[in-house]
Amino acid sequence: MAEFENPYAAEDPFVEAHFDCLECGGKLWEYAIQGSMVCEDCRSTFRSTDVFDAQATGA
Ligand SMILES: [Zn+2]
Repeated sequence: MAEFENPYAAEDPFVEAHFDCLECGGKLWEYAIQGSMVCEDCRSTFRSTDVFDAQATGA
């Protein structure tokens, strides 16, 4: 019997995002399923689209 595994079920759903927290500058982790990001330092959550916009206009 073939076995199929949902990678999201077995793996940590968070992936490292190469963006900085808009609040504290900490590292953001993207929560791909919900299209949101969470800061590892202050635990602030952001919508991915908001982070993209901020990174595009800022820097
Ligand atoms: Zn933060």
